[in-house]
Amino acid sequence: MCSIKVERASWIITLDQKRRIIKDGSIYIEDGRIVAVEKADKLKLEGADIVIEGLNKVITPGFINNHMHISYAHPVRGIFPDDLPLMTYLNYVFKLQSAMKPHEEYYATLLAVTELLKSGCTCFADPGSIGSLESGVKAILDAGIRAVVGRDVVDKPNPLHLPVRETEEAVKMLEETLRAYSDLSNGRVKAWVTVFSPDYASDELLIKAKELADRYRTVLTLHTSFSEEGVKNFEANRGRRPIEHLAHLGVLGENVLLSHALVVNEREIGLLAKSGAKVVHCPSAAVRGFGATKFGRFPEMLDKGIHVSLGSDAANSSYYLDMVRLMYLAMVLYKDAKLNKAVMPPEVALEMGTINGAWGLGLNEEVGSIEVGKKADLVVFDTKRAEWRSIFYPVNNLIYSADGRSVDTVIVDGRIVVQSGTPRYVNEQDLCGRVQEIGEDILKRTNVSFNYRWQVE
Ligand SMILES: [Zn+2]
Repeated sequence: MCSIKVERASWIITLDQKRRIIKDGSIYIEDGRIVAVEKADKLKLEGADIVIEGLNKVITPGFINNHMHISYAHPVRGIFPDDLPLMTYLNYVFKLQSAMKPHEEYYATLLAVTELLKSGCTCFADPGSIGSLESGVKAILDAGIRAVVGRDVVDKPNPLHLPVRETEEAVKMLEETLRAYSDLSNGRVKAWVTVFSPDYASDELLIKAKELADRYRTVLTLHTSFSEEGVKNFEANRGRRPIEHLAHLGVLGENVLLSHALVVNEREIGLLAKSGAKVVHCPSAAVRGFGATKFGRFPEMLDKGIHVSLGSDAANSSYYLDMVRLMYLAMVLYKDAKLNKAVMPPEVALEMGTINGAWGLGLNEEVGSIEVGKKADLVVFDTKRAEWRSIFYPVNNLIYSADGRSVDTVIVDGRIVVQSGTPRYVNEQDLCGRVQEIGEDILKRTNVSFNYRWQVE
């Protein structure tokens, strides 16, 4: 391991407990951890192996994407017309996903990870949809991103044609995954407990999954309350709304991360707050006709102290993975919905994209802020660009004006993985060509095609 010094950065947005913003500051990294972050004149450590010039740079913690199906969408991105009904769309998704071969998943994952890293995301959590975990995790390890992975299970019949397993078998799969992937590459890859959704899980599976998360000191994640229809169906079948039901079973808790949690009522927000459960909001997926502002109660959750983080969802649900754009969207949606510009300030959006993400994954002692003792996951933005100028309070510039394209350097675990905007572990152009070929091949062999509003000649 080597040492890195970020020398005289014009601005460091630390997200530490005091939320310090340091003008003209330096950061010293040794063996993958931050050992100093100070005003440049105060920091005396010299002689780093690598020195990053910080003039005109804004440094932030690495962004954390807490809901990202990493492995399937890039080869078939953008194929779906907007008028496909949700269940039809999801059926295509699972059909295409299950048709992928391990080597295809490797390259698809590598490209998705590249998109994340290049826009400043240093950590993501996959909710269990990687078919060949071995291939997906190899791509993650090769690229150098931080990740939490799992293998999702259900034990009830479902319209998505997810494989229905016996409850015992499902629990066994979850535990095997935890054993195999819990602590790879010095903790850079971890595993969590992934039950696809309470909609398709028995009470027994939900309870046992939570017990596993407790026993292995990790997090349980579930897709919950994504659509109004889904919540209505759940209530009709189980007698309670989804979050009420989870609370009733004792399955909510500090190590539970609910993805989407879009259609929730006041009582459910109270249950989340009381239990310490965390939520990941996927604004770019929700905003595509699911009622992000009609149903979404994220400002209320934040007011109650619930750690709300951000996720993109799959590249075909969101279409973009840029965390800066996600933070912007999460911020402006609720200002508009509440007719109040003071709602969801940019500082809160930035917390959602960084430290709240770390809380959601139980990694808040390790990442999410630039603090002494934490792992060195950080992003260096180049501000000598029109969209960044002029700068007086860089949080506003970052969240309102910039996007991930001004990311210059990305450090994960004390290693530079993106330099001058270019990934260091792969030739991006070659990778794009390869993934395009994979996509063409998958569509051909699955016989999937669509008619679009405009004809392609
Ligand atoms: Zn999802």
